[in-house]
Amino acid sequence: MIRPDLLLHPTPKGLYCPPGDFYIDPVRGAVDRAVVTHGHADHARAGHGAVLATPETLAIMEARYGEEFTKSRQPIEYGETVEINSVTVWMSPAGHVLGSAQVVVEWKGLRMVCTGDYKRRRDPTCRQFEPVPGTHVFISEATFGLPVFRHPDTDGEIRKLLDSVAMFPERTHLVGVYALGKAQRVIKLLREAGYNETLYIHGALEKLCKLYEDHGVALGPLDTATLDTKERGAQERFRGKIVLGPPSSFHDKWGRRFPDPLPCFASGWMSVRQRAKQSGVELPLIISDHADWDELTDTVREVDPEELWITHGREDALVRWAELEGRKARPLRLVGYEDESID
Ligand SMILES: [Zn+2]
Ligand SMILES: [Zn+2]
Repeated sequence: MIRPDLLLHPTPKGLYCPPGDFYIDPVRGAVDRAVVTHGHADHARAGHGAVLATPETLAIMEARYGEEFTKSRQPIEYGETVEINSVTVWMSPAGHVLGSAQVVVEWKGLRMVCTGDYKRRRDPTCRQFEPVPGTHVFISEATFGLPVFRHPDTDGEIRKLLDSVAMFPERTHLVGVYALGKAQRVIKLLREAGYNETLYIHGALEKLCKLYEDHGVALGPLDTATLDTKERGAQERFRGKIVLGPPSSFHDKWGRRFPDPLPCFASGWMSVRQRAKQSGVELPLIISDHADWDELTDTVREVDPEELWITHGREDALVRWAELEGRKARPLRLVGYEDESID
C-alpha cells in the first residue's frame, strides 16, 4: 500500500491532497479547490475557487456568506462518487448537523476517511453517522477526546428543561444554542417530547431554521423574540415561555429585557461545571453535537482502521488509548478548528 501521507497530509492551510490538488475544510485563506465536510464556520469558509460539498452544506454556506461565497460549487449526494484529478471522492453521513459528511478519499487502493465533526446519537434533524467499511486511515475529530467526557442521555436533558418551565411558570427560559445545528435539534427534541407551544427565536436563528424547514425538518410554531419596549407590558407575554438565541445574546440588551430570565445553555461543554458557572448559566443542558469519549472509542473499534489520525484539540488521550489497544495512531495538530464556541 502507498504511504497515506502521499494522499493526505497536514499543511498550514489545512488537510491537503496532492494528487487531487484539493484541501479538506481549509482553515486559512482561500484555496482553488475545497472539499467541505459541513457548514460550521471553522470548517466552511468563503472565498474558495471551487467547493465540493453536500447540497445541504452548500445551501448553508450560501445562507451564511451570500450567493458569491465561491466561484463554482459542486454538489455531491451521500454515496455519489466524483473523480478529482485521479482521486476518487465520496461522502458518508456524519450525524453532526444537516448535510454534514465524512469525506472519503481513495487513490491507488488506499481509502482514507476524514470525519469532520461527528456524533453517533440519534439526531432527528440530520442523517445518522454511517461508518465506512474498509477504511485504511481514519482521521477522527477529538473535541471531547478525554475519558471524563461522557454525555448523558439527551432526552433526559430536554426533560430537565421542560420540568424547569413547569416549575417556574413566571420566568422566561432563555436557552443558549448555536445557530447551526444545535438550535434546530433542541427545537425538534422539544417537539418530540410533546412541547407544542410557540417557541421564540432570536433573529440570528431565523434563516437557518427556515433552511432546515425547507429541507424537510419541521420545527413547529416559531415566532421572533422581539421586544417592543414602547408597547406596555410587551415583556409579559414571554413569562413561562422558551426563548432560544445565541449564547452571546443573553448578556446584551436583548437578553436582559425578558421578565425574570432563567439562563440555560445547550452544549457539550456544560459537562464542565466551571464553564457553566463562569458563563452565568443557571440550567446547564449537556447536549452535544460531537462524539463523547465512548462514541469516539467505539467508533474507532467499529471502523477498525489500520491507522488512526486525530485532529481537533484533545489528541493526546485518544492517541494513548489507541496505542494501548495496539493501534497505530498519530496526532495531526491541525490548527484552526475551534471548539463549539464558534460552531
Ligand atoms: Zn462542526
Ligand atoms: Zn469542528
